[in-house]
Amino acid sequence: MSSDSVDSCDVLVVGGGVAGMSAACKLAEWGLRVQIVEQAPTLGGAVLRRAQKGQNSKLNGVHEPIWRDLMARFDRVRKLISVSICTTYTGTDSTGEIVITNTSTSTSVRLRPKAIIVATGASERVRPRLGWHLPGVMTAGALQVILKTSLRAPKKRVLLAGSGPLLLAVAAQLTRLGNPPLAVIEEARPFRKFWRALSLPAGYLLEAANYMMILKVAGVPILQGRFISRIEQYAGGLRVSITGEDQLCFETDFLALHDGIAKNSYGMRPGGMPIWYEAGDCALGLGARASRAHGEAVAIEVIKQLRVCPVESVEMKVRTKVLLDVLSREMAAQSTLAEIYSVDEQSVLDELPHEVIICRCENKSLSDLYDLGSDPTNREIRLNGRFAMGACQGRFCAHWINMLRKKAGTAEGDRLIGSHWPIKPISIQALMHESDHASSTERECSD
Ligand SMILES: Cc1cc2nc3c(=O)[nH]c(=O)nc-3n(C[C@H](O)[C@H](O)[C@H](O)COP(=O)(O)OP(=O)(O)OC[C@H]3O[C@@H](n4cnc5c(N)ncnc54)[C@H](O)[C@@H]3O)c2cc1C
Repeated sequence: MSSDSVDSCDVLVVGGGVAGMSAACKLAEWGLRVQIVEQAPTLGGAVLRRAQKGQNSKLNGVHEPIWRDLMARFDRVRKLISVSICTTYTGTDSTGEIVITNTSTSTSVRLRPKAIIVATGASERVRPRLGWHLPGVMTAGALQVILKTSLRAPKKRVLLAGSGPLLLAVAAQLTRLGNPPLAVIEEARPFRKFWRALSLPAGYLLEAANYMMILKVAGVPILQGRFISRIEQYAGGLRVSITGEDQLCFETDFLALHDGIAKNSYGMRPGGMPIWYEAGDCALGLGARASRAHGEAVAIEVIKQLRVCPVESVEMKVRTKVLLDVLSREMAAQSTLAEIYSVDEQSVLDELPHEVIICRCENKSLSDLYDLGSDPTNREIRLNGRFAMGACQGRFCAHWINMLRKKAGTAEGDRLIGSHWPIKPISIQALMHESDHASSTERECSD
């Protein structure tokens, strides 16, 4: 790499979802030059996901107007924003220099912005179950990505299981694309908390009512208070045993699991970057509406810190108040949702048989974890046990390992995953081949 770094933006925004886009628009509206890096081939993030070839995804539902509004703002300030798609934020060093990597061309660029806003969203949480590592088992979020980007449903049988409102959304989306799922197996009992649910904002209730209507018309059963006890392979696909009030068994080709979402701030650390903020789901995990407001609120903080305007304007103060009101409303809504969908995960983990695979990357089981002794250190778990060492770097298994350790009353904290960079594996070629420009267009990006 050469010694000069590219210095072409004031603020780097990592992630082109609703929070990143909202932050970028606000910054550019105040005259700041913004660089957005987005690892996916299109902007939009998890909820406003674009279909391949830029088609409007008809599955974004109630969130689509947010996208249109953001795009209209984006178009007005377009000349101040450069966008690099298929580009991963790789890390910040102790001097504040940043490396971003274009995964399509395997080239890296160094940047030295004045500030960085990390808006990398949420990742999906899926609890280990007996047989969850088998082919045909996926996450509901991964299935949703396929549906939203291809606008096609898999032609085979699909079963959805776990907990949370995303299961209903994906079930309704499958149905709209012509392949209703066999059933939705929900561990919680949200319908029993119907009166509590009525305190949710109208937008949430309308969205839920729409999904329920689609599923009712298609005859998709929603079974509550039931858990998967075993997933097995048989000649025709997967056999999924369910326990709860009764014992059930489903034969399916695909099983999509989901147990909530977690903040995706893995490995993120400011290094030498003086102005560093996290925005949206990676900071709060409060959903799309809150992420949009939070992106803008964080951008206002950055504008203030960069002293773009000598004194805080009245307009800025009023806007900040509006955004904080949105955030507190969304916080209340999300805590109601958490109550409605509450599941005692610790007791479910307590009952896991020892042969359950905990780390799918390295094929390590619960009994491998217990073989490390009664109170293994983080190093022992990683180096001797090979947990949190695979391709996902612990994003899937670390949370559950920490819960299992808490159960055993272990002393060491829950920092099983580190904060070192590169935050995602990149090729040596990408590290060695430096490009002098950060932009890449959708045409350059192979999917
Ligand atoms: C699998 C999944 C499905 C969801 N589906 C729904 C839904 O149907 N309805 C709903 O209301 N909410 C849904 N959510 C919640 C939803 O993600 C959010 O509330 C909302 O999208 C958050 O906006 P955001 O901008 O904070 O994050 P996101 O929209 O997730 O955007 C983050 C962006 O950052 C990019 N990124 C991540 N890491 C890097 C990196 N290192 N370098 C460069 N780019 C990076 C990602 O590719 C992504 O585009 C879902 C969440 C998940 C995890």
